[in-house]
Amino acid sequence: MDQIQNYQMLGYNQNELFIMKHYNQKCNLHNQRLDILKVDNYSNQQMLKCIYCLSEQTFKFLPLKQVLDSNQSTLFKGWPILDDTEIYEQLMVIPKKEELIKQSIQNVQVFYKLLRDEINLLIDKKEKDSLINIEMRYDSFEYPWDLYNRICQKEKLKDIILNQYQDFINQNQAFSLIVKENIEKQKVYKEQMLNSLRTIQSYKVDLVSQNQIKDLIVQLINQINDFSIAQENRNMLQVSQNSQVQGNQLDQNKKIQIFSLEDLSNIQNFQNIEIYLSNKNIQDEQLKQIAGALEKCQNISSLILNLSENNFKLEGVQYIATSLQKCHQINSLELYLNNNNLKLEGAKYIATSLEKLHKMNSLKLYL
Ligand SMILES: [Zn+2]
Repeated sequence: MDQIQNYQMLGYNQNELFIMKHYNQKCNLHNQRLDILKVDNYSNQQMLKCIYCLSEQTFKFLPLKQVLDSNQSTLFKGWPILDDTEIYEQLMVIPKKEELIKQSIQNVQVFYKLLRDEINLLIDKKEKDSLINIEMRYDSFEYPWDLYNRICQKEKLKDIILNQYQDFINQNQAFSLIVKENIEKQKVYKEQMLNSLRTIQSYKVDLVSQNQIKDLIVQLINQINDFSIAQENRNMLQVSQNSQVQGNQLDQNKKIQIFSLEDLSNIQNFQNIEIYLSNKNIQDEQLKQIAGALEKCQNISSLILNLSENNFKLEGVQYIATSLQKCHQINSLELYLNNNNLKLEGAKYIATSLEKLHKMNSLKLYL
């Protein structure tokens, strides 16, 4: 039995044996094996130290065996961050990346399932209640046509015409009674008819407020934080602002933030508008759309318009310039047109159009 086999039997592992075999150089001072790497100082001198060096002076170190024994889950306290009180502690407790992703995905799936279930339940209930209430509403008063048919006594008149034409006196008396009753009740009948007609007007099922709420819900859902890194902070801000919106009318003083072209139709009533369409492949057609949406915002007083990194050309920016000229109430403007293909002439267009905005007192322009 050779020496290596002896060591293995004594419980030495492969890495220990490797070091014992190949690291035979001894420390000049202590005559011990140099198998510890000093990591807090570098020099042309011996970087490896012996165990006695370590006992005599304090230095940061890394045993070679520990490095060889390490795998992807091994944490060397003290390397590569030399001075630390929190990083290694945090590293120890954070879960593995795959576990974290899996757990986060599960959480998100549960969130959307609950959201969907809750919304579906609520919507189902609203729909059922609405159907019942509509019937109840129209049953709660005498419908104009029902009322009309009741007071005009068609059947009674028909009966007299069909059955009493041979008896002049009786027929005449019957006609006379009906006409008399009708004349006496004129005021009441007229009032009843007008009331009924007014009621049906006020009971109109036109779905205007329902559609406003629908748009708001769609807008809110669009603003749910989808964990995209760039939008996370903005979205959280936006959601907290929108959750304060009461009723179905948006507060005109409140800010709206837009991150997609589809949402542009929502900006109309806002004074404070932020449009972030950087790097979204915005070209002439989309610029026309943005310009059109801005033109409808006559009350806009503050605008952030980020159209950077879209590589559009001079022609496209004219739409924006023309549109901005018409927003006379703007007093604060941040315009990001950098990283497009505008050149000097585009800058001139913008500058000329901004000259006409006399209320402007804060301007940031990135060309
Ligand atoms: Zn030594």
